[in-house]
Amino acid sequence: MTTSNRNHFVAVIGGATAGAEIASRLADRGVSVVVFEQNKRPYGKIEDGLPRWHEALREKEYATIDEKLSRPAIAFVPNTRIGRDIGFAELTKDWGFSAVVLANGAWRDRPLPIEGADAYVGKGLVYQNPFVIAFNHAERGDLPGPGYEILPGAVIVGGGLASIDVAKIHTLELTVRELAKRGIAAHVNELEIKGIPKILAGHGLTFADLGIVPPTIYYRRRVEDMPLMSAPEGADAARIAKVEAGRKRMLEKSTEKYCFKVEPLSAPEALIVENGRLVGLRLRRTKMENGKLGMTDERFEARGPVVISSIGSIPEPIEGIAMKGELFDFKDWEIGRLEGYPTVFSVGNVVTGKGNIVASRKHATQVSEEAVEAYLGVGEGDDRTIATDVRPAAEHAAKAAESVLASLGNASAPSAEQAAELRERIAKLQRAVGYDDYKSWMEHVGPPC
Ligand SMILES: Cc1cc2nc3c(=O)[nH]c(=O)nc-3n(C[C@H](O)[C@H](O)[C@H](O)COP(=O)(O)OP(=O)(O)OC[C@H]3O[C@@H](n4cnc5c(N)ncnc54)[C@H](O)[C@@H]3O)c2cc1C
Repeated sequence: MTTSNRNHFVAVIGGATAGAEIASRLADRGVSVVVFEQNKRPYGKIEDGLPRWHEALREKEYATIDEKLSRPAIAFVPNTRIGRDIGFAELTKDWGFSAVVLANGAWRDRPLPIEGADAYVGKGLVYQNPFVIAFNHAERGDLPGPGYEILPGAVIVGGGLASIDVAKIHTLELTVRELAKRGIAAHVNELEIKGIPKILAGHGLTFADLGIVPPTIYYRRRVEDMPLMSAPEGADAARIAKVEAGRKRMLEKSTEKYCFKVEPLSAPEALIVENGRLVGLRLRRTKMENGKLGMTDERFEARGPVVISSIGSIPEPIEGIAMKGELFDFKDWEIGRLEGYPTVFSVGNVVTGKGNIVASRKHATQVSEEAVEAYLGVGEGDDRTIATDVRPAAEHAAKAAESVLASLGNASAPSAEQAAELRERIAKLQRAVGYDDYKSWMEHVGPPC
């Protein structure tokens, strides 16, 4: 710990996996840190992205975040959204922070790429992020947003892990309901661990006996292309073939265990609207030739009571941060540097979120086949405590902490007067939301779902 670090003050935007990791690392090196979190609890995708059946993993990650944010050198400011309650440019340029770290994740669903689709949100079209949030909170009845009915025959557009979660939510919930009608009590978590067919067999039933129309995931490419695991950069043909076979096997196991359907080589092309409601999609059959996606002339319809779009999460725009397409316009993708903001760094999903180019590709290779199998619930040992699916964000934050610390050597620390002013501003914000200390606040807001 250096004396100069003691004078530095860093703001972190977002208090979840990546934010808590970098905040604690900086605090341990003598830096004063303030963590701004838009929600009352800081758990981000752990509470609202991982489906609630990942009980052990979620508990473990909650405890890790709590432990990190409880450091005395960290001031936590909940219920405060940067970009709405405090301007980003104002925070970074006027408040006197030595550095500002964006750890705000990727919370906006990538829009369904059919013109006019978003007019049907709530009228037949649902996006994955609010859908999973609603599912996670439904059991406790503390919905932070709209609730969604889980209906048979959903049309899901996607292909990644999150779309499989959406499909599983449907078949698990609908099975619980059908069993309840037959006087059999079952729980989603138990069904997820053991698999639907096994539990049903114990009652002398099959999935077909329940008469549930399963959801179908429509995916643009082949099953072998599903982004469930990645080949390392520069992999040879044999390695790529192995990865492709692994993806196929993983999906087969998942569809068997959770009874949903997948229709590959299907690209959404147009909306089917009846009486002002989205009732399905027109799709076009695609083909893969030499790794390239092409269109055929075959067209078909997929109809269902709801269309769920699960094609990736992107950062929510923040006023003052330039965008390049749907992503922040980083000039350095390793540690998320932004043009015009020399004191800003970025960590976690906001840079490494799936689909987010260079850094994402690097991080993706760390996610092993075993971890993804465990995540999907189709691994041999079913070890739900494997946290590799969330660790890349923390690892990224840990590495970025070194860059932030190095940059502090050249950064100007706030003067004693500025630091006192900063502390007063932060205390005022905390008072405004009724925050006293981390432990009492977390008791006050209650446990996560
Ligand atoms: C199904 C699934 C599979 C996944 N697979 C992977 C994977 O393979 N690799 C991987 O790296 N990750 C994966 N993830 C994501 C994983 O959850 C993350 O890696 C990790 O939890 C993200 O942590 P984070 O801190 O970057 O972002 P988040 O958990 O999203 O945290 C961001 C925090 O910032 C807060 N926030 C946002 N905007 C503001 C604002 N303007 N002001 C204040 N606060 C704000 C949010 O409320 C939130 O608490 C997966 C997630 C899911 C759901």
